[in-house]
Amino acid sequence: MRDIIVIPGDGIGPEVTRQAVETLDALGLGLTFVELGHINAATYLSTGTAMLEADFARIRDSGLVLFGAIGDPRVAATDYARSVLLRLRLGLDLFINKRPARLWHHRLSPLRDGSPRDIDCVILRENTEGLYTGVGGSVHEGTASEVAIDAEVSTAMGVGRILEHAFAIARRGVCMVDKSNAVRSGGRLWQRCWADARAAHPDVPAAHLYVDVAAMKLVSDPEQFDVIVTNNSYGDILSDISAEVAGGLGLAASANVNPVTRSGLFEPVHGTAPDIAGQGIANPLAAILSGAMLAEWLGHTSAAEAVRKAVSVVVAAGQCTADIGGTLTTEQAGAALRAHLLSAGGHDE
Ligand code: ATP
Repeated sequence: MRDIIVIPGDGIGPEVTRQAVETLDALGLGLTFVELGHINAATYLSTGTAMLEADFARIRDSGLVLFGAIGDPRVAATDYARSVLLRLRLGLDLFINKRPARLWHHRLSPLRDGSPRDIDCVILRENTEGLYTGVGGSVHEGTASEVAIDAEVSTAMGVGRILEHAFAIARRGVCMVDKSNAVRSGGRLWQRCWADARAAHPDVPAAHLYVDVAAMKLVSDPEQFDVIVTNNSYGDILSDISAEVAGGLGLAASANVNPVTRSGLFEPVHGTAPDIAGQGIANPLAAILSGAMLAEWLGHTSAAEAVRKAVSVVVAAGQCTADIGGTLTTEQAGAALRAHLLSAGGHDE
């Protein structure tokens, strides 16, 4: 069994990750954890390198990471994030970023006025290409003639494999989102790969939306969506919208995975939340649900479902942190969830 590398990181990362590890432990799956607690902003500030080559080698050997969040107002966000999170995503070729948005209780949706809504979709964000590859540069920096270019990279291989995964996990259908009416070359490539993927899966309902329309529909009618597949930057933005209509960042989990190598990095969608860090009030459910995605990735499907069921129960009972209407601390919220998990008799594995 591979060790799971735990990188708690900065801000609320350590607080919520502890709850995720304790919950995975409570499931009794025999998972083993190795914590790399030094990969954080303090190390980056004092040594200039948060993640050593030896750390990366250790992580690559395992291929499984439970991640908190990194970031610190004292460090340049792009350099530090690039040297840890982007390095892991690219170094392990975690080309799929899967972000489920499920409404755990109708009181949590900003769309709660009216009838209760059945929101349960997944944003599949291409994770290794697009606008965030660092291709481009600037000239005449700091002058009135400054020119800055960030190229959006799409490859037939990269687009083809994420579309294939979208069809592989579809329950009710796939919606591909692009901006092919304005982004010419990449748009053409996405459309060509989309036509191929649809032809290969004629039985799966398929739809296409431009990103501006998709953003609108995610707010006005999120129930229509099952799997939304899109590029790196659109996925980044649309998954914050879907997280918000499904109850907010405190519940939004994510998985960065490669189904070929079986590597994966599992992390809450939220960041380090410096405004509440150290107060013991961060919602641990996004980290715990990310842990459930890790368990599912390892084949423990009923254990993951048991965690999700326990989340439904604690949210409905208001046994949760203040961001979603409760009064519990991070630790109490994690403990309440585990109490339901155990009282429900665990899971049948
Ligand atoms: P970073 O720079 O690390 O991304 P940020 O504050 O810009 O940090 P988030 O960490 O995602 O971005 O936080 C956005 C807002 O959501 C903050 O007000 C934060 O307090 C709140 N928030 C994020 N995560 C949680 C959580 N787990 N529980 C409660 N509130 C949260």
